[in-house]
Amino acid sequence: MNPTSPPAPDERTKDFGREVFARVDRQGAVLFSRSWLEDKLMGLGMHDPTLKVQLFRFVDTLPYLKDSGEVVRHLSEYLGEARHELPWWANLGTRLIPTGGMLGGALAWAARSNAERMARKFIAGSNVAEAVAAVHAMRTRGLAFTIDLLGEATITEAEADHVQKQYLDLLAGLTREVNAWPEEPVIDRDDRGPMPRVNVSVKLSALFSQFDPIDPEGTTRAVCRRLRPILALAKRTGAFVNFDMEQHSFKDTTLHVFKTVLTEPEFRDWPHVGIAIQAYLTDTETDLHSLLAWAKTERKCPVWVRLVKGAYWDYETVIAAQNGWPVPVFTKKWQSDANFEKLSEFLLANVDWLVPAFGSHNIRSISHAMATAERLKVPQRRFEFQMLYGMADPIKEAIQSLGYRVRIYTPYGQLLPGMAYLVRRLLENSSNDSFLRQGFAEGLSEEVLLRDPASNAERGIRNAESKTQTGANDMAAATHATNGTAGSHSALRTPHSAFKNEPLSDFSVAANRSAMAAALAQVRTELGRTYPVVVDNKPLPAAKTLDSVNPSRTAELVGKVAAATVEQANAAVASCLKAFDSWRDVPVSDRAALLRRVADQFRARRFELAAWIVLETGKPWRESDADVAEAIDFCVYYAAEMERLAAPQHRDVPGEDNRYFYDARGVAVVIAPWNFPLAILTGMATAALVAGNTVILKPAEQSGVIGAKLMECFQAAGAPPGVVNFVPGVGEEIGPVLVQHPDVALIAFTGSLKVALAINEQAAMTPGGQAFVKKVIAEMGGKNAVIVDADADLDEAVKGVVDSAFGYGGQKCSAGSRAIVLSGIYDQFLGRLVEATKSLTVSAADEPGCSLGPVIDAESRDRILKTIESGKKEARLVHQTDVGPLASQGHFVGPAIFADVPENAGLAQEEIFGPVLSVIRAKDLDDAIRIANGTKYALTGGVFSRSPTHLEQVKRRFRVGNLYINRKCTGALVDRQPFGGFKLSGIGSKAGGPDYLLQFLLPRTVTENQMRRGFAPESGTGE
Ligand SMILES: Cc1cc2nc3c(=O)[nH]c(=O)nc-3n(C[C@H](O)[C@H](O)[C@H](O)COP(=O)(O)OP(=O)(O)OC[C@H]3O[C@@H](n4cnc5c(N)ncnc54)[C@H](O)[C@@H]3O)c2cc1C
Repeated sequence: MNPTSPPAPDERTKDFGREVFARVDRQGAVLFSRSWLEDKLMGLGMHDPTLKVQLFRFVDTLPYLKDSGEVVRHLSEYLGEARHELPWWANLGTRLIPTGGMLGGALAWAARSNAERMARKFIAGSNVAEAVAAVHAMRTRGLAFTIDLLGEATITEAEADHVQKQYLDLLAGLTREVNAWPEEPVIDRDDRGPMPRVNVSVKLSALFSQFDPIDPEGTTRAVCRRLRPILALAKRTGAFVNFDMEQHSFKDTTLHVFKTVLTEPEFRDWPHVGIAIQAYLTDTETDLHSLLAWAKTERKCPVWVRLVKGAYWDYETVIAAQNGWPVPVFTKKWQSDANFEKLSEFLLANVDWLVPAFGSHNIRSISHAMATAERLKVPQRRFEFQMLYGMADPIKEAIQSLGYRVRIYTPYGQLLPGMAYLVRRLLENSSNDSFLRQGFAEGLSEEVLLRDPASNAERGIRNAESKTQTGANDMAAATHATNGTAGSHSALRTPHSAFKNEPLSDFSVAANRSAMAAALAQVRTELGRTYPVVVDNKPLPAAKTLDSVNPSRTAELVGKVAAATVEQANAAVASCLKAFDSWRDVPVSDRAALLRRVADQFRARRFELAAWIVLETGKPWRESDADVAEAIDFCVYYAAEMERLAAPQHRDVPGEDNRYFYDARGVAVVIAPWNFPLAILTGMATAALVAGNTVILKPAEQSGVIGAKLMECFQAAGAPPGVVNFVPGVGEEIGPVLVQHPDVALIAFTGSLKVALAINEQAAMTPGGQAFVKKVIAEMGGKNAVIVDADADLDEAVKGVVDSAFGYGGQKCSAGSRAIVLSGIYDQFLGRLVEATKSLTVSAADEPGCSLGPVIDAESRDRILKTIESGKKEARLVHQTDVGPLASQGHFVGPAIFADVPENAGLAQEEIFGPVLSVIRAKDLDDAIRIANGTKYALTGGVFSRSPTHLEQVKRRFRVGNLYINRKCTGALVDRQPFGGFKLSGIGSKAGGPDYLLQFLLPRTVTENQMRRGFAPESGTGE
């Protein structure tokens, strides 16, 4: 190398890195303070993902546990589940854990105080005074700070108001105090002059309980309303505000809020603001370019950018896998590192507009920023490094000693919300790929740690990739293991069947939102049309039509749907019967192909169909989209299922061939409800069709237009004449005609218990001329319960119960209409539940921010309101949202909550099919399970608990068709959660499951004697 030329950039990075390492005492730099829980068990946990999951779960639950007995029970349960992973001495220890007495008490105390100590390592204090003391101590060590207020998830508007107030109080109190302290030039000035001393970090989702990227404008308005006073006070008092970045789905809305509010005249000339940007996202480079253009040309004033890699890697990868969405993050650690370096360079090159704060503990990433700044001649004090409180203290000191400004992200708050933060930090530190772990616990060499991450791209290797998957993957796999499912990585990647659910639309993606808005606008131009009865693929003249109106806006006529006459219904049966003879002999592959073409129709018309659902049935965007996705799933799943069932099944013996196979039943009448207007009608119809039956589609009166759209799709997909006939009309008029018709072989029904039982009775009759007993498949209602255990995560439980009870106005068969809450948590739960319900946005379903739309029609509304009125005699009405002017716009009923509902009250026993929730108190888990099982229904159920043994009991003893643990009890997916119940919830087996099609089929066996005069073919081929 020429001695006069500057060293290559990477060499210079390594020079800085070696210098930092030289100033860091790697032996002294421990990650965790010495204590039993951390040192012994964390040490084990580092190397054992299953144990790590159990430990972190225990730590997360700890603050909720009220007495020492509970602490010890949970510790023993969590460790017990990972027992097989422990060395013998620890294994023995878990068996000997005392559950009571002095020893038990001492153990509980030790666990609690160790966890608290661990939390205090990362959290600067539980109140402002303690936080101020901590930042004062940091300033005396020459370290700047940014304060973050830890909080529970904001699920109520009252909580959002409280967060705003806390920030205002914090700013007022802190500025007064800190500005009175003597100046520390190292941190209070940059290369050009004084800088704000007070610096706070804000999470925008904490400022609005309904923060939802589906409605960026509504969310921005609500967030800005609470944000402006905070920004105004900060500006007035000379403080700095940084916007934290949360999960990927919130990113665009966060950026939108940032740009919107900071372009307002009041704030556009204020440079003391910044935003965190995550280098682990693949689309961050584009965001930074757009941020630069905005700062430079629109705002004309610089902002800060805190460049981090990102704290939600596990979450992002799991959510993407669960939903079948593209993974938004890089999947290899070196890619995030390399992107961090690329973006560091971009920021330093544009330092006049985007001032960088590098948020990293990785000496390679930090050194790269130092070397790049030197090369681009950016003054050392123009930018800064930021690190987390309690982490990597020796690195902070080393960097500071090199003359750079170092700012410490300092969270403070109560222990309860603090645990979630603590677990995030523990996860980060213990991940296999963490720089700190590799550098300070695993002792990798400096040369390896300082290697250029981009060089991995060329070499195609990375130790973490080949040796071990990332810590996060370990965690996910281990979570499966402790949940009793397959515990290997492959269990995550290999689906149980080849079937894949149609992904739901991700409405955090702008293109999906615009497509939905455009579809609604387009559909609105097509309202008011007339839809005929269709028999033999031909429209029949309509003698009478039924008006279908938009329940959100009753002035809007969605369409006029023919009311079939008795003659037309009979004609439809005759047409089906005629078509049956040939359709049942159409090869299964052709019948399956028809279903797949119907799915293609749905895909091509995805947003349009969703828009019809929004307008005709008052379902919000997300749920309408899910309805179409489920309809697609039914087509694809049943096509594959029929192909599976059609595979030849032989039981041949010498001289005798035996074949077992399935035949169709005949004419099927499909009577569907309005609450899943496309999915259920499609599901029942396609199951019947692919099995070789011919089908009469009878949609609900309230969703006849969507029925007609389905008929259009069948025709467009090439359904032969008579194979599917469309017979809308008044249930009471044509229902009995179809059900009792002697040529109808099968009735598939979903709807109310009363109608189902009537159909079952009518179908059981065998009038003269009918030489078979009709088959009835019926899905009925439920009085579904969600049990909330005393140790439940309240953020999750409240949200889960609200979603279960009020999603689509409680009009799903699976809706959770009873919350059975254990005494220990009852009052706390009820308080937050009421506030969370008050915070829901009740609006027309076509508005993207709608959390609760109307109920289906006036009759439903009146019935529900009457039930609420009479319910007041049985229990305490603790909340009912006033719907205000919406009452005259559509069929709105505000969500209502009854508390202290007796378990046998009508409110707790009868299905209401509306937004009415009964909260019932239970003494203990046994009591809760007994109450939960104590109705005539057994459809769905839910439980929120963090006790492994309680969960085991609930799994065994809470007898329902679909049980959901620690999540909402609605939203079953085809194949993943086949749906349906028993008792008076259903006759037949689960829709979207492996037994469903069998109900539409007749099993047959053909036996053929192959012996002729004492000889037979060598072996039966059967073919
Ligand atoms: C001051 C400060 C403020 C912060 N604010 C935020 C914030 O607002 N939002 C936020 O999300 N985070 C924030 N963080 C957290 C930050 O994202 C993590 O601390 C950081 O990612 C750890 O990176 P590192 O460079 O210190 O460590 P390293 O060990 O070098 O990197 C670890 C990071 O690499 C990434 N990673 C891990 N495995 C993989 C993989 N298999 N493929 C791809 N990438 C992988 C992850 O982002 C992981 O966190 C902040 C951190 C600091 C210091």
